[in-house]
Amino acid sequence: MGRARLCIKREAWDAIWRHAKSAYPREAVGALVGKDGCVEFAWPLPNVHPRPNVGYRAEPKALLSALKRAEREGLSVLAFYHSHPQGLALPSETDRREAYWDLPYLIVGLQEGKARAWRLPSGEEVVVVVEPE
Ligand SMILES: [Zn+2]
Repeated sequence: MGRARLCIKREAWDAIWRHAKSAYPREAVGALVGKDGCVEFAWPLPNVHPRPNVGYRAEPKALLSALKRAEREGLSVLAFYHSHPQGLALPSETDRREAYWDLPYLIVGLQEGKARAWRLPSGEEVVVVVEPE
């Protein structure tokens, strides 16, 4: 059995990186939305964590409206992303403990310049496949 994959269109991939860099030194957070199993859009969400340089919490109303918007537009939320401004693209203990969604969590490790996706809390890696437009 092959490992799970997360398909991301190039444009969405670039948008994730732009967001992660512009949010620095804070953590960026957002929803990855698409259809037919491939992410087409990265929708940034406000990070309302009390210490946003070391943690993330998507603003609940913005998250809810993203979920509604996806449904309205015939899209699905396929994954979530957040960044580690000072760290690696590996899930932290907090990331595992607070994982809620049965979806891949893409983590952007700005210091190593890598983004990797994980099932949490299990920690199983999901292979990211970036597709051209
Ligand atoms: Zn994290």
